[in-house]
Amino acid sequence: MKNKIQHLVRPNVRLLEPYSSARDEYSGEAAVWLDANENPYPGRVQLVMRDPDTGRDLAVFDEAGLNRYPDPYQRSLKELIAREKGVLPEQVFLGNGSDEILDLLFRTFCEPGRDEVILTPPTYGMYTVLAEIHGTPVKEVPMDESLQPPPAAILSQVTENTKMIFLCSPNNPTGMAVDKNSVIRLLEQFDGLVVVDEAYIDFAPRKSILPLIGKYDRLVVLQTFSKARGLAGIRLGMAFAAPEVFQWLNRVKLPYNVNRLTLALASLRFEEKETQEEIVQKILEERKKLEKSLAVLPAVKKVYPSDANFLLVCFDDPERIYRYLMEKGIVVRLRNGIPGCGKAIRITVGAEKENNLLLQALDDYKILKK
Ligand code: PMP
Repeated sequence: MKNKIQHLVRPNVRLLEPYSSARDEYSGEAAVWLDANENPYPGRVQLVMRDPDTGRDLAVFDEAGLNRYPDPYQRSLKELIAREKGVLPEQVFLGNGSDEILDLLFRTFCEPGRDEVILTPPTYGMYTVLAEIHGTPVKEVPMDESLQPPPAAILSQVTENTKMIFLCSPNNPTGMAVDKNSVIRLLEQFDGLVVVDEAYIDFAPRKSILPLIGKYDRLVVLQTFSKARGLAGIRLGMAFAAPEVFQWLNRVKLPYNVNRLTLALASLRFEEKETQEEIVQKILEERKKLEKSLAVLPAVKKVYPSDANFLLVCFDDPERIYRYLMEKGIVVRLRNGIPGCGKAIRITVGAEKENNLLLQALDDYKILKK
């Protein structure tokens, strides 16, 4: 079992003597911390997190230890997350956004210039950017006409140097969740890591494939606090996989990659789960309204079905619409290489007022065009 992951790891990482702090070596509650050259005084700044509706103080940071480094392994937050997700804390890894975890996967598993990854465009742009940064050759296998990754075509591109296959479910920018059977087929027939990025899964009717991590030790599932959980500003990404995958990532990650404020704020979010679910519902209702309104606009050729908090829209003249919206102070995203469309615009579902401003602007565009 051990070798299944170890043989995928870069040789220099396998040989690495990782950085170790005294806090890695001491697990009790020390009375006297004189190991990390911190300032012993908590400082005079007090940061209060207050609930805007009730005025209640949610957390006060003063002697809560901001003068101290955070737990390098984020043990208490991992326990909260593991309980919510029904996994073990050792099956959880946290990063400074899921982008950091994606970066760590390249750093840990891909020998620059040699090891390859497979992507299924159109998909999240950071996979390509990270591959380029790390000198990792990319094989692209386009989505099929129903915007699903084609497992047979993907498997035909695998070589002995293929280390990872990235699937994004629901996919950014197309919005559709990936068929679970395709993921299983890849896990059964490919010897490397299958990374399933579920940044938008909380908006999808399809369930997360997280329960499969117990069965397949080469499956890595990524989720984030940035989307449905509404905390993009604190930068916190989660990965779920077999503990052995994370033993390697822990050797490569920077020692204190998730800061104390982020840990504290993320923990608070667990107290308000219901509010979060209500907000997701509100966004889904807005998506439905927006989808309907966009579909009847003359400039719109197609609105793609979405399992996420955004809509991909095929316009007659997307670049012109994009520039026009920018001039109006409405920022959307122009995306390339969309099957059957070419360039398309990805629109995040905003609050009702924001969506109405967008629709109003698109309505005015119709008049301008005449
Ligand atoms: N994966 C996907 C598919 C995304 O769209 C994004 C952000 N847009 C990320 C990962 C990165 O998320 P985070 O904020 O957790 O770094």
